Amino acid sequence: MHSLEDLRAEAERAIKQAGSLKALRDAEVAYLGRSGKLTQILKTLKDLPEDKRRTMGAEANETRKLLELLAAERTASLKREEYEQKLKLERIDITRPGKRYHKGGLHPLTIIRRDIERIFGSMGFAVAEGPEVETEFYNFDALNIPADHPARDMWDTFWIKNPKRDPKAQRLLLRTHTSPVQVRYIQKHAPPFRIIAPGRVFRYEATDASHEIQFYQLEGLMVGRDISLANFKQVMQTFLGKLFGKEMKVRLRPSYFPFVEPGAEVDMSCVQCGGHGCSVCKHTGWVEIAGAGMVHPKVFQSAGLNPKDWQGFAFGFGIDRVAMMKYKIPDIRMFYQNDIRFLRQF
Ligand SMILES: [Zn+2]
Repeated sequence: MHSLEDLRAEAERAIKQAGSLKALRDAEVAYLGRSGKLTQILKTLKDLPEDKRRTMGAEANETRKLLELLAAERTASLKREEYEQKLKLERIDITRPGKRYHKGGLHPLTIIRRDIERIFGSMGFAVAEGPEVETEFYNFDALNIPADHPARDMWDTFWIKNPKRDPKAQRLLLRTHTSPVQVRYIQKHAPPFRIIAPGRVFRYEATDASHEIQFYQLEGLMVGRDISLANFKQVMQTFLGKLFGKEMKVRLRPSYFPFVEPGAEVDMSCVQCGGHGCSVCKHTGWVEIAGAGMVHPKVFQSAGLNPKDWQGFAFGFGIDRVAMMKYKIPDIRMFYQNDIRFLRQF
């Protein structure tokens, strides 16, 4: 009897003090398991006399029930504690700032080129393309700039070596403007048409804040029976208005380009000051934006079109220059340095 009471007290303590589910399971095995201490006592009952066996047996069974109940309670409370501990560890602080992840972005020149294409597209202009490595014919001769023409000096050119030294082969170069696309397009399409040709061009010259050896240009061409510079002015005004999101004025100043006649420099009202005068426009209220003119009859001829039947305007401007004005970027070279701090701003 004495040892059963001792055992009960000992087992109760072990169960109540079990600090984890594993410790509890160990205690259960030690007292209630197949070879546990209580089971051992039950096994000795058969050696006792009849009456003692009956009382001892009843008591031992009661003890077993009690211990099992205690173990069940302890299991439940340990599980609860464990769950609360887990909740504490996995607590989510919804006030913490989110994790920032970096996704790629478009280059500012790509953004502006797409804007420009969308705006001209809304006016019915298709997008045309031409090769960056051009022949001398398309880059110069077909545009009314023969080899001995002094106007060739207007474009500092990267010439490409002729590896076969074939004297009859066309001389190749990196195109100095997007104007060759005009000729290529007219050769393959019947007017009337209106196109823009954005693309990369190359100049062999020193770089500074407003000059790069490569930059992006946009060529425009509209040909029909009675297309005039008045149409051009309207197209340009609409385009600039949509690009800069406000009403823009355009003026034409007489100028010379070999592939147009008459030719003009195109000014737009200063985006910075709205035409009142500031340092950007050198207090004139105007900023030069493009070159333009009526397509020269010789250009039509070299592209196989009769200039007596057709006429049209052509224009060109620097996409980089427009982007610099729109985003207020002081140096054209920033577009090509790929400094991530610069690029992330767009
Ligand atoms: Zn200004």
